[in-house]
Amino acid sequence: MSGRIPPLGDTTGLWQAVLSAAAGRCQCRGTCGKTHAKDGGRCPVRHGGYARHNAGPVRLLAAPADPDGLLLPAHRAAALPKRELAAWCPACHDSTRRTAAKTGRGATGPADSLF
Ligand SMILES: [Zn+2]
Ligand SMILES: [Zn+2]
Repeated sequence: MSGRIPPLGDTTGLWQAVLSAAAGRCQCRGTCGKTHAKDGGRCPVRHGGYARHNAGPVRLLAAPADPDGLLLPAHRAAALPKRELAAWCPACHDSTRRTAAKTGRGATGPADSLF
């Protein structure tokens, strides 16, 4: 239902820069609807970690840090500088985007992660 764009390779320089700035950890601070309170207010999911048993390793996404930015068309999101990007785990990314879409601010169409 999401119509996800296939991710580009992990070798993408910007993706690597975003991930290393995030220390390989999801940077969601509750915009997904979970407070992440028991994890210090930040999502504990790490790149390459396992979100749950019997699931593959988590692959973090580089996407706009601002929830509204997640609604940008991909070509506009791709033009954002690194400081406006954040690492997201797929669950937080999808939930945050859904929440942002619901509020309707700045919604111009579907967007997806950059990489
Ligand atoms: Zn997360
Ligand atoms: Zn989250």
